[in-house]
Amino acid sequence: MTCNEFTNRLASLKYPLEISPEMKRHQETCPQCALAYNNAVMLMQYISEEKAVKVSPFLKTRVAAKLDKPVNTGWYARPAILSVVSVIVFIFGIVSANLLESPEKINPMESIASDYYFQDNYGTQLEEIWFNANYYEE
Ligand SMILES: [Zn+2]
Repeated sequence: MTCNEFTNRLASLKYPLEISPEMKRHQETCPQCALAYNNAVMLMQYISEEKAVKVSPFLKTRVAAKLDKPVNTGWYARPAILSVVSVIVFIFGIVSANLLESPEKINPMESIASDYYFQDNYGTQLEEIWFNANYYEE
């Protein structure tokens, strides 16, 4: 088996990766293909972890649109996805904290903040900044 055959077959495998005895033999004698296999396993694990986290369909579309533009392996997208998610979690935390407050306690600053976060496109700008900052870093 050649390295090309190995990587082609590896690419066609579905999760969980079960390699044939023939592939296993090649992998044991070829450090390069062993590394490729390990990377594929890590990638598959990462993807299945990502799938386990529920994200809004809206966010998925946005991320997919960004990923389609430059030619990248997808690994660069990880910090970007994480920062987008953390911005959203952060904003959601503020919004839900405001919702839990009783109406009497709300001061002018809080109502300005909640007006901002209840807008249709709240956080869009923040999201863009974080996304682009991480995306073009390298
Ligand atoms: Zn090889």
